[in-house]
Amino acid sequence: MLKRFLTVENLTFLAIIFGVLAGIYLKDLVIHLKIVGDAFLSLLKMITIPLIFASIFISIASLTSIQDLKNLGLKALLYYFSTTFLAVLTGILIVNLIHFHPVSDINITHNIEHKPFTVEALIKSFIPSNIFQSLSEGKVLHIIIFSMLFALAVLTLQKSKKEIITNFFDGINDAMLTIAKWIINLSPIGVFALISYIVAEKGLGAILSLWQYVLAVVLGLFIHAFINLPIIGFIFGKFNPYKYFLKVKEALLIAFSTSSSSATLPVSLEVAEKKANIDKKVAGFVLPLGATVNMDGTALYEAVAVMFVASMYGMDLSLTEQIIVFFTASLAAIGAAGIPSAGLVTMTLVFSAVGIPLEGIALILVVDRFLDMLRTATNVWGDLIGTKIISRYFN
Ligand code: ASP
Repeated sequence: MLKRFLTVENLTFLAIIFGVLAGIYLKDLVIHLKIVGDAFLSLLKMITIPLIFASIFISIASLTSIQDLKNLGLKALLYYFSTTFLAVLTGILIVNLIHFHPVSDINITHNIEHKPFTVEALIKSFIPSNIFQSLSEGKVLHIIIFSMLFALAVLTLQKSKKEIITNFFDGINDAMLTIAKWIINLSPIGVFALISYIVAEKGLGAILSLWQYVLAVVLGLFIHAFINLPIIGFIFGKFNPYKYFLKVKEALLIAFSTSSSSATLPVSLEVAEKKANIDKKVAGFVLPLGATVNMDGTALYEAVAVMFVASMYGMDLSLTEQIIVFFTASLAAIGAAGIPSAGLVTMTLVFSAVGIPLEGIALILVVDRFLDMLRTATNVWGDLIGTKIISRYFN
């Protein structure tokens, strides 16, 4: 009985709870655990790049025709865009229902580095000029684009050559997933270290001072994750989303603890392929791409954050401005990398679009790490639901 309860998932879940408690009550002790959390993160990141390359490659190289690829790609994009829009819409509606009150003790002079995020930068982020540099710098979108082209080219080769390359990457993919499984076994320790350190370092007090904003983001994410996405999964994927949630929960716990969709990717792939039995062809394509392009949680948070800061400046956003927020927040989420705080950086695009001073970002900085955890879990959940839905059409 006890043995059945002591699964890695349950232990990881307990690690989050005990991590929060330790962060509050054993602050001086857990602050030294940073190295443990960092080591766990490094282990995950270590296999992310080879895994992205191999899984995208295998997914495309094992498709039987270009038509199949078009089908898979279009379905994935359709899913990404529609759920991102739905997430932003949910955020905007919530802000219109909650009227933010000014926060008295906010500090706008906080210095943060802001490199405004532009559409040009977004386009550039898709095209690599040196694939080895992109690989070593972990530029995920570059790697995805290159591995797609590479796979397409390999599809045109003679059968014997094609087989060698495909088997090679298939082997890499499986080996990386095996390492992922080993790392997952360490997640209770890694997660405890990550969570307790963040709580000890940031303190939970900041959340109280910005409670209205935090509430709006959390409520929005909750509605999107537990109502919107499950309904979509149920209607289009014809599966029970809550049962599926239990199967893939390890990935969500890791996303929550690491605040990084990319670092979570090895775990998402592992649970999708091994626990939920989703075809490697679909998971290997939809998850890596989704981890960087499909960020429902980030999109929702961007919309709420911008509207919150605007109201702190006494600006009431008109309907037109809210429509601008709708599009730019979606774009900023697509452009955000799957790493901690990426959404905060791309938010400058939305700020500029509606004319809010960039310094305003400082207002929400203190609670950002906590919200990052929740939005990242929502991002990964969105990818996993999408993978399951799309797999229905590819079996
Ligand atoms: N941390 C998020 C992710 O990796 C991105 C963000 O900052 O919103 O999915």
